[in-house]
Amino acid sequence: MIKTIAGTKDTLPIEIYKWHYLENLVRSVMKEFNYKEIRTPIFEETALFSRGIGESTDIVSKEMYTFMDRSETSLTLKPEMTASVVRSVLEHSLDKQQQLNKLYYISPMFRQERPQAGRYRQFHQFGAEALGASEPSLDAEMIILAYDVLKKLGLKSLDIKINSLGIPESREYYKTLLKKYLSDKTVHLSDESKKRLDTNILRIFDSKDETDQKIMEDAPLLLEHLDNDSLEKFERVKELLLLAQVPFEVDPRLVRGLDYYTNTTFEIISNSVGSQSALCGGGRYDLLANHIGDRNIPGVGFAAGIERILLACENENCLSINDENPYVYLIRLNKELVKETYNIGLKFRRAGISVELDYLNRSVKAQMREANRLNTRKALFVGGDEYENGEVVLKDMDTGDQEIIKISQLDGIIKKIKG
Ligand code: AMP
Repeated sequence: MIKTIAGTKDTLPIEIYKWHYLENLVRSVMKEFNYKEIRTPIFEETALFSRGIGESTDIVSKEMYTFMDRSETSLTLKPEMTASVVRSVLEHSLDKQQQLNKLYYISPMFRQERPQAGRYRQFHQFGAEALGASEPSLDAEMIILAYDVLKKLGLKSLDIKINSLGIPESREYYKTLLKKYLSDKTVHLSDESKKRLDTNILRIFDSKDETDQKIMEDAPLLLEHLDNDSLEKFERVKELLLLAQVPFEVDPRLVRGLDYYTNTTFEIISNSVGSQSALCGGGRYDLLANHIGDRNIPGVGFAAGIERILLACENENCLSINDENPYVYLIRLNKELVKETYNIGLKFRRAGISVELDYLNRSVKAQMREANRLNTRKALFVGGDEYENGEVVLKDMDTGDQEIIKISQLDGIIKKIKG
């Protein structure tokens, strides 16, 4: 028996309605904010990600699915979308066609992480990227967008954390302060953090090691050493979030360790999903395009993990109603009316109303059971005396009310149902 690979999973028909609901919601919120969908290949040249995400990150240093293809080109399954979106904008000169490109995606991602609840090796993200402006209103828009989707799903237990990383110039100075602070504490740091001292010192704030965390509690904070322009931008983001009634807290320890990250960074956490609590992360990356390509395009974006969001929905009892069941079940009362029942079903289906009927020659009782199992809103009985009189009976499954309908008037009824 061949099974799925650890860290991957099948999405079965019983749960697919949740995915459809979420995806439809994402599409409609993105439309409200005028973001256009972009789709990029599942795999890209490895160099795109090693440059675009950064050699010193966990993703690039230990999580990517990288392989040589038959012509000895190193390819990688995409571990995130930002680098691919920026590549695509540069490659197709979208930035020259219009200055601001507001893009969104829904896509599988691949990272070889240790599988656990809420952490997979193939997982799915939706996200948005706005390329072409460094206006703080776009930074706020990213947070509002992500928050609106999560709220509209019915999630309540959410925390938004925001921070500003300023610009590389002020960060360089700050890094020397941090290094100085850590210089006499190095021996106590975890091995991972020791390595980060030289490669990615800011990321020591991310360490899960308790001693590291204790040490970092008294560390100087980047937020206290920002340049004036960055501070002003941060204030603008906060103002807009307040105006949008999006609750947030400033977390000066929320970092992203790469030089091309600038200004805003944020995370949305759920308190209902256990240890893998980050539903969404994002920030501004004004210097990334120049890193990947040949020109500057300021950008800001976020990515949200669909599996984790659905886990939060399950724990908070959102999305519990399956709205994808057929609307009506046709119950054939006489065995010989197979063709006739089938044809009535077709009428509904072609008019855009979802119908199920019996394909297994089941008894009337078993057909009723099936209608109940499928939780259809209506049952339509075809057969018996009514059928001889050119009629069928439409039963409301909730109220039990029955309505006798002339088959010749079925089109009118279908129209009425469609409303
Ligand atoms: P990142 O691209 O690392 O900033 O992640 C953005 C979001 O994607 C996270 O907040 C998670 O919700 C989700 N995510 C990241 N890695 C995984 C994973 N291995 N499995 C499931 N979801 C993930």
